[in-house]
Parts: sequence; C-alpha cells; structure tokens
Amino acid sequence: MSEGLKWLQCPVCKETIYWKVPSDVLKDVDRFPTPIVIKHNDHYLVCYVDSHYQLADTEVASAYIEAQAKET
Ligand SMILES: [Zn+2]
Repeated sequence: MSEGLKWLQCPVCKETIYWKVPSDVLKDVDRFPTPIVIKHNDHYLVCYVDSHYQLADTEVASAYIEAQAKET
C-alpha cells in the first residue's frame, strides 16, 4: 500500500473506499482536524484528519454545496 493511502468503510453504501490523503494540500493547513470531502457515487463523506493525517471523524453529507461568502 502506497504512502498516504487510507481506506474506510463507506457509512452509506458499506463499500470500502480507498483514498489518498492530499498531503500536498494539508501541509499548508495549520488548524486540525481539517475536513476533507470525498465524493463517493452519489453521496459525499466529510473526513476529518488530524495533524498526523489520521482519520479523526467521518460525517455523511448527502449533498455538498459550495457557497461563496459575500465580500464585505
Ligand atoms: Zn458510498
């Protein structure tokens, strides 16, 4: 198994998901745990990783919508 590759059982469809920790992005993050959104089929998982890139928590999101904050 290559470095940074993680797996989890999808809480929605119970399939095993292999995913790669985006460590090149995470190295610029200074607050942990930080959420990572994974699209799986028609649902989304929000995985929180800690500063050691370990999975801290998983949430299910049936939809993922990006909203733009209004510039003040
Ligand atoms: Zn799934």
